[in-house]
Amino acid sequence: MVLDTASATSYLKNYSEKDGLSVQELIDSNKFGGLTYNDFLVLPGLISFPSSQVSLDSKLTKKITLKSPFVSSPMDTVTEENMAIHMALLGGIGIIHHNCTAEEQADMVRKVKKYENGFISDPVVISPEVTVGEVKEMKRQLGFSSYPVTENGKLGGKLVGIVTSRDVQFHEDDSDKVSAVMTTQLVTGQEGITLDQGNETLRTSKKGKLPIIDAQGNLVSLISRTDLQKNQTYPLASKSFHSKQLLCGAAIGTIEADRERLDKLVEAGLDVVVLDSSNGSSVFQLDMIKWIKSKYPELQVIAGNVVTREQAALLIEAGADGLRIGMGSGSICITQEVMACGRPQGTAVYNVTEFANKFGVPCIADGGIGNIGHITKALALGASCVMMGGLLAGTSETPGEYFYRDGKRLKTYRGMGSIDAMQQTKQNANASTSRYFSEADKVLVAQGVSGAVVDKGSITKFVPYLFNGLQHSLQDIGLQSVEELRAKVDSGDVRFEFRTASAQFEGGVHGLHSYEKRLHN
Ligand code: IMP
Repeated sequence: MVLDTASATSYLKNYSEKDGLSVQELIDSNKFGGLTYNDFLVLPGLISFPSSQVSLDSKLTKKITLKSPFVSSPMDTVTEENMAIHMALLGGIGIIHHNCTAEEQADMVRKVKKYENGFISDPVVISPEVTVGEVKEMKRQLGFSSYPVTENGKLGGKLVGIVTSRDVQFHEDDSDKVSAVMTTQLVTGQEGITLDQGNETLRTSKKGKLPIIDAQGNLVSLISRTDLQKNQTYPLASKSFHSKQLLCGAAIGTIEADRERLDKLVEAGLDVVVLDSSNGSSVFQLDMIKWIKSKYPELQVIAGNVVTREQAALLIEAGADGLRIGMGSGSICITQEVMACGRPQGTAVYNVTEFANKFGVPCIADGGIGNIGHITKALALGASCVMMGGLLAGTSETPGEYFYRDGKRLKTYRGMGSIDAMQQTKQNANASTSRYFSEADKVLVAQGVSGAVVDKGSITKFVPYLFNGLQHSLQDIGLQSVEELRAKVDSGDVRFEFRTASAQFEGGVHGLHSYEKRLHN
């Protein structure tokens, strides 16, 4: 008998189960193995809305919600101030590494907090004593020739003039001081004006540069007409509710010196601290959480790393506002090989989040995120955010210089437990060695490697690619938000499928002689 086609959807009710597996069944299907992201897929759902409508709002900690669930890892080849500024502008957050002195780290935090889109917060400033010849030479070296002039030649000094190419270009006596040629009839903006107001002043005054001064006439920043044209707007930017400054995170360890380090970071305006340890279930970390919570009750604390419910329970009870999950899944990591400890990341994320979410403690899936699909899967398994090292490495916002090898433009990417990073750390209050409880070791035992990754361009293109891709991925599952994903995974409406090795082969590109894998335009 052939059934009536008009009854196809109602006929589904005759099946006792929906197609595919619930998340619990997926995990149970491999109870004695352990799953990674590549071991399973999410089944598609009904699309009834454009992908641009999908909300990626997600919690980083109990008190911080981001517009995109992307976090850059506290590694010295991934996150310094430039990465942190751009991650925050793009709706995520950067966690500044601690393989440097406390002062250097605090200075980076301060730069993120003081950053205002479109305002140049560290312009090149000169003193009135500088000569015309020196300004011409600066143009040759720096490529521009407009400089604010302050009494002491520094940012923060009293603004006395501005020198532009027009002032020096045809001036014949190179030994004259700029004070003789600079413009002193200045159009300025007052500290606190918006970028739009500054832009309007530049337009009406037809000037190229607008120095911003405080009430005492001291130079605080600069707006440049050329930069305005390049300026993007960042509607997703992660900002503090009150100050409207960008959100900034930083990592510290759990040794005594880290308490002093944290004082400096908090003074610089830190919003969230990540306790950086390969194994977060230590008495040192529990003590540290309690100390931070009593001294800085408003500061959000992300504890970790953990991969089991038992580890998570200790940190939750101690007061953690968020957890970081992962041991051995990082792309530069050899922990599982050397320590015999760790857990396949899919299983770790499911087990920890299933427990932590009951207590309202959001979790970050850290390590092993290699593509957009992995991000979707981490969120589907219960994570609220993902932390990325390797995926962001090689972008122009990471620390370090590009170099060429085998015709490719590369940057260094290294594990914080690599010998390279741990040797550098010895001069920096043991930031990296303490992550692996190795600060007292005479012979260092590496838990990571040092390598190189290909240039990925700027994260101002790459992160929007991740964002759009994730929206499309949720659309494919038939979901309009990360929140709906959570609810429908928990209710069993979102379905999963285990992937055999041959299914994984089938899901990759196959059967071609050659191809180019371009991920975005
Ligand atoms: P990725 O995104 O897969 O490259 O993994 C990055 C994550 O690996 C970081 O956020 C850390 O949790 C972890 N990690 C960083 N350095 C090391 C290391 O040297 N050994 C093991 N894990 C590391």
